[in-house]
Amino acid sequence: MKWIALFLFSGFFAAATGQQSVTILIDPGHGGKDPGHLPTEEGIMQEKEIALAISTKVGHYLTHNLANVNVIYTRTDDTYPSLDERVDMANLKNVDYMLSIHVNGSENPSIHGTETHIHNFEAKKSYQWALLIEDQFKNRAGRKSRGVKTGDDIGHSIQVLKFTQMPTVLVECGFITNSDEARYLNSVYGQEIIASAIFRATREMLQKSHPGIDFVPSETVAVTTDTDQPYYKIQIMSSIDSVSLTIPEFKKLSYPVERIKIEGSSIYKYKYYIGPYTDKHEAKKVQKDVQANGFADAFLVAFP
Ligand SMILES: [Zn+2]
Repeated sequence: MKWIALFLFSGFFAAATGQQSVTILIDPGHGGKDPGHLPTEEGIMQEKEIALAISTKVGHYLTHNLANVNVIYTRTDDTYPSLDERVDMANLKNVDYMLSIHVNGSENPSIHGTETHIHNFEAKKSYQWALLIEDQFKNRAGRKSRGVKTGDDIGHSIQVLKFTQMPTVLVECGFITNSDEARYLNSVYGQEIIASAIFRATREMLQKSHPGIDFVPSETVAVTTDTDQPYYKIQIMSSIDSVSLTIPEFKKLSYPVERIKIEGSSIYKYKYYIGPYTDKHEAKKVQKDVQANGFADAFLVAFP
């Protein structure tokens, strides 16, 4: 009877047998005329801006660190697609997953923490994905997780969760109305960690759900930036032979690692980087973090 169990097991995860790639629609909440939650302190961005910054980083990680993943966005600038338009985009463009990114707010300034919302607990795939995200927030990013919530918990149903036809999660990355959390969400450092956590959870979900798709990227090519601005990366090591990007030592870090093949006479053919960061101060923070987590020799490299 073994084969039946095996069949059921693989059938559960391989809903998309034969599929070669997945498309993820990233939806930065609000935008344009709709600022979302407003900060209570000066110098903090509005929800729509923080949501866009985190969304862009998640999309960057997904496209640069995984193969066979297409990322599209409901918005990439300060515009306001209506909720109907966002739902239509998801349903009409045949996307496989939708990831909506928001920042929370409350009248009570002491309330803080992350939440991931799904339509209901019957939405099994969304639920699994949401659990992975909250697990990453709590156990890897060191955030306070308020858990997975449904329409019943929050007393109203959220349109993008209710009407999309694919697994969809809506992530509330923290409370903009809590002083400490607002400053964290407003920093590039905090945004990177939140985005990395969402990326890792999504990668795990994809690997479990699509065993037939190879998500491991081939040799990563150097990420080019759109600006002439100098930027920094943290080099964590180099190697003679190619080292898998999924080894536990890399997975332990809060940031995705990229592997660059180098031409030249050195016996070290591969370099491993985290970044890029345009802000040197932020890059140094990440460097310290990485040094404390197993890569004591990590150093900053300035580009170009
Ligand atoms: Zn929102």
